[in-house]
Amino acid sequence: MKVPFLDMKAPYLELQEEIDLVYRRVMDSGWYILGKEVEAFEAEFAAYCGTKYCIGVGNGLDALHLIVRAMGIGAGDEVIVPANTYIASWLGVSLAGAIPIPVEPDEKTHNINPQQIEAAITERTQAIMAVHLYGQPADMDGINAIAQQYNLMVIEDAAQAHGAKYKGKRVGSLGNAAGFSFYPTKNLAAFGDGGAITTNDGDLVDKIRLLRNYGSRVKYENEIQGYNSRLDEVQAAFLRMKLAKLDDWNARRAKVAQKYLDCLIKNSNLTLPFVPEWAEPVWHLFVVNLPQREIVRQQLREAGIDTLIHYPIPPHLSSAYSDRNGNQVIFP
Ligand SMILES: *Cc1c(COP(=O)(O)O)cnc(C)c1O
Repeated sequence: MKVPFLDMKAPYLELQEEIDLVYRRVMDSGWYILGKEVEAFEAEFAAYCGTKYCIGVGNGLDALHLIVRAMGIGAGDEVIVPANTYIASWLGVSLAGAIPIPVEPDEKTHNINPQQIEAAITERTQAIMAVHLYGQPADMDGINAIAQQYNLMVIEDAAQAHGAKYKGKRVGSLGNAAGFSFYPTKNLAAFGDGGAITTNDGDLVDKIRLLRNYGSRVKYENEIQGYNSRLDEVQAAFLRMKLAKLDDWNARRAKVAQKYLDCLIKNSNLTLPFVPEWAEPVWHLFVVNLPQREIVRQQLREAGIDTLIHYPIPPHLSSAYSDRNGNQVIFP
């Protein structure tokens, strides 16, 4: 038996008839960019996350980049980011011209350690970006308390955590603004690229709506130099349909995760995911730590079971951030 890391066709096969109908509905409408489907998805996803607003954009990286830009953060500014994350979290900051400042994760949760944030704050710090990595919510009370003390913005990178809860509240509603990705491997996934921003801040929404559509509110009137980063109508329609299934699918992931937690051998060599009592994770990934991972991976491979390392090269050791490569000593 083969166990692939992820079977991306499975959701299509499960929902094929509905998906085909949704596709036909959008194609029949004759309207493919920024129409009724995007508007409806934005309203439904905002309601799901418990925020006033949602703005559909082209992908998760753009969501983070546009948030940073709309906050007026740019050249010379610093944004605190986790040292352990997918590189897009850092790139969202860099694309706006600002500097990502890494902070080590908590060893148990793998998420940014609020206790280590303060030491990284300088006069140029404008924001803290929390990433709910692997679908586990970050410790937002600790992060928000520091942000309040230093008058900083809080950005959530919720690309891996659609539906996860922190103390009963959904991610996406826990800071000033949140970026989501609907890349096909995510818990809520399009059949292509897609992203969204959630927030309660009306001014931010206004700026992001301009930025995603050529700086234009009224056709051919361009108030600022914007971008082209829009969620497609057809992807929005697929996402509306899948959003209705998200809680069920996340519950199925939780069941599988519980089985792993119950059955995997607990010994000093294997560290299982840690779930704090305030967290309701959505198990985007089930990540274990072990010292001899290549041997174990090889054994699993021989048994037909795929595994992946998330992530083999952290951003500060990547060529893309070669100016930070000296940092391995401080970020073990
Ligand atoms: C997937 C991901 C992103 C970027 O999303 P894209 O839609 O691929 O641009 C950002 N941050 C994290 C943590 C991610 O996992």
